[in-house]
Amino acid sequence: MRLRHIPGSEEEIAASPYVIQNPSGKKGCWKDVFGNENPIEIEIGMGKGRFIMELAALHPNINYVGIERYPSVLLRGLQKRADLELNNIYFMCVDAKNLAEIYAPGEVEKIYLNFSDPWPKDRHEKRRLTSEDFMAVYNQILRPDGVVEFKTDNRGLFDYSLEAIPRAGWKIEDFTYDLHHSEMGIGNVMTEYEEKFSSKGNPIYKLIACR
Ligand code: SAM
Repeated sequence: MRLRHIPGSEEEIAASPYVIQNPSGKKGCWKDVFGNENPIEIEIGMGKGRFIMELAALHPNINYVGIERYPSVLLRGLQKRADLELNNIYFMCVDAKNLAEIYAPGEVEKIYLNFSDPWPKDRHEKRRLTSEDFMAVYNQILRPDGVVEFKTDNRGLFDYSLEAIPRAGWKIEDFTYDLHHSEMGIGNVMTEYEEKFSSKGNPIYKLIACR
């Protein structure tokens, strides 16, 4: 996502009731954050957050955390959040590489990766959110029956992920090269990027990974 720094975004995020401050202090205590035992699902790289806010509205018995590392991007999501009456969603401004310091083993039930940055150069492989290094982080925080769901329109990143995820010791439970015309697309909730790229005619790819 192209970034324009918004002056004051860090301060607004630090003062927002919708953003978890000091997230590593919540490790092992996320049930207390939400005040219930409902499962927790997270989106890494939520951008402006349309997808995860829509999920939260659709599923009041699931708790959601939207994660975005850039304050200026997260701020856009916060502005939308203020108009919604939801008590099952929070946000965090962190880099996903630190998630094992924020969630105890098994504290997360599902991880969504949507239109993650492709980082096409070989030397940037470790930055891809489906790299072996990131899958090892997800392995630490997901429940044993938990899954990672990944959508993209980037064929290079998708094909890379179909190989990198099994190399990390995971299984590909299901995948499609045309989400919007497949059974996997039933009940699909669109992201901002998905809307943009599918309206240009790009097929959307999706995989589900489990252990
Ligand atoms: N998921 C949204 C969508 O589909 O519309 C946004 C997609 S955007 C291309 C990818 C987002 O992931 C960017 O906002 C970027 O800042 C965020 N991101 C990339 N790497 C990240 C990381 N390691 N931790 C947290 N966020 C990350």
